[in-house]
Amino acid sequence: MSQKFAAPKGMNDLLPPQIEIWQVLERTARELFGTWGYSEIRTPIVEDTALFVRSVGEVTDIVSKEMYTFDDKGGRSITMRPENTAPAVRAYIEHGFAQQPVTRWYYLGPMFRYERMKTGRYRQFYQLGAEAYGSADASQDVENIALAWHYLKAIGVQHVSLHLNTLGDSSDRPKYLEALKAHFAPHVGTFSEIAKETFERNTMRLLDTKDEALRSLVESAPSLSEFVGEAAKKHFDEVKALLTALGIPFVIDPKLVRGLDYYTRTTFEFIYEPPAGDNALGTAGTVCGGGRYDNLVHELGGPEKPAVGFAMGLDRLVLLMEALGKRPERRPVLFVATMEGELKVHAVKLVTDLRAQGLSVDFDPRGGKIKRQVERAAAVKARHFFVYGQAEHEARAFKIKNMDLPDGDPAKEVTVPLDALAAWLLNAAQAAPVTP
Ligand code: ATP
Ligand code: MG
Repeated sequence: MSQKFAAPKGMNDLLPPQIEIWQVLERTARELFGTWGYSEIRTPIVEDTALFVRSVGEVTDIVSKEMYTFDDKGGRSITMRPENTAPAVRAYIEHGFAQQPVTRWYYLGPMFRYERMKTGRYRQFYQLGAEAYGSADASQDVENIALAWHYLKAIGVQHVSLHLNTLGDSSDRPKYLEALKAHFAPHVGTFSEIAKETFERNTMRLLDTKDEALRSLVESAPSLSEFVGEAAKKHFDEVKALLTALGIPFVIDPKLVRGLDYYTRTTFEFIYEPPAGDNALGTAGTVCGGGRYDNLVHELGGPEKPAVGFAMGLDRLVLLMEALGKRPERRPVLFVATMEGELKVHAVKLVTDLRAQGLSVDFDPRGGKIKRQVERAAAVKARHFFVYGQAEHEARAFKIKNMDLPDGDPAKEVTVPLDALAAWLLNAAQAAPVTP
């Protein structure tokens, strides 16, 4: 009896042809982030559960309801990473990097959150993140933001704008919390159970609620910016001035608090603001979130080390690229039709030689009627085509057909000798590069 399976809910197979977009995003990231002095790290998929509870915070969406947590066979509670900042900080401390003055890292990989699925919201999703440790200076915040900005520019997504806020220092929080509590308190009776709990345990997170019933109350809530102390205010002014100097546009968004507990001072998001009628991301419009977290290294057992970082949602960027028609097309420069017997050996050898020279050349291992092999060449969108027959073998030359030109076009067919074939194909491949 055979049995059929489906991928787990909210976890996607990433397949051709869409995978081409993923590869562009990854390739661009590695090149750009490397150029900016960020080195790649790869941490395990699972970590000690306590690491996330301690860093992300108990009363966040992530820890309270989204984590894939289970006991392993040794009875330890482990969690599939819902984010990569805490694991990065763990590794930074564990391996002695915290002893060095400045460290810049990036990561790229799957994260796991048990979420309600919608467009752009999955249970296994991919983040590209960059973290910089060791400097409290505004230029470090801005470098990090500029990296995200230049990356989005490099991949060519549009209608994404930078939202910016400051959360002040942790010493600015108590007064603000008092004001916030006073604002919400008279209405708590009407709150949902979840909102009530958030009010009790982590009032600030109400600003980040997705509960529509609370919208107007959130809008009229006091702004953190009125409670930010002098030092954090000066830092924020420097951040804004530097962004302006770099020509990076931003909007100040006083209600931007972000969903994790560890942020201090600067927070930012890049949000997709679609032109009318476009809805590529539904309600999941934030493609990147980040900010400063000056206390986390110390809270996780390291020395006092200020830090700033961001995480981008690659799945959402792929959706945007797809909507913009930015999927590169990979086309073989040549398709070789084969005959049976000894001729097939010669043809396969030629295909292999050309491939070894870096040329994308295809053939149909099933062989068969030439007509069917032509169809196959068209199906894989080959640019050129020829038959490796007895006459071609003896003449050591091939009649190459340009698959993009109509029959009857004088340039449709050219004869190229075997000796000149690789150079001819290389030229043809360069004349029609992979987009973008
Ligand atoms: P949201 O408010 O949309 O739930 P978040 O605050 O939980 O976002 P972060 O933890 O800041 O998100 O993650 C950074 C980025 O990772 C998000 O801006 C988003 O692009 C992406 N991301 C987060 N959760 C998911 C998910 N479940 N599926 C796809 N992408 C996600
Ligand atoms: Mg979330």
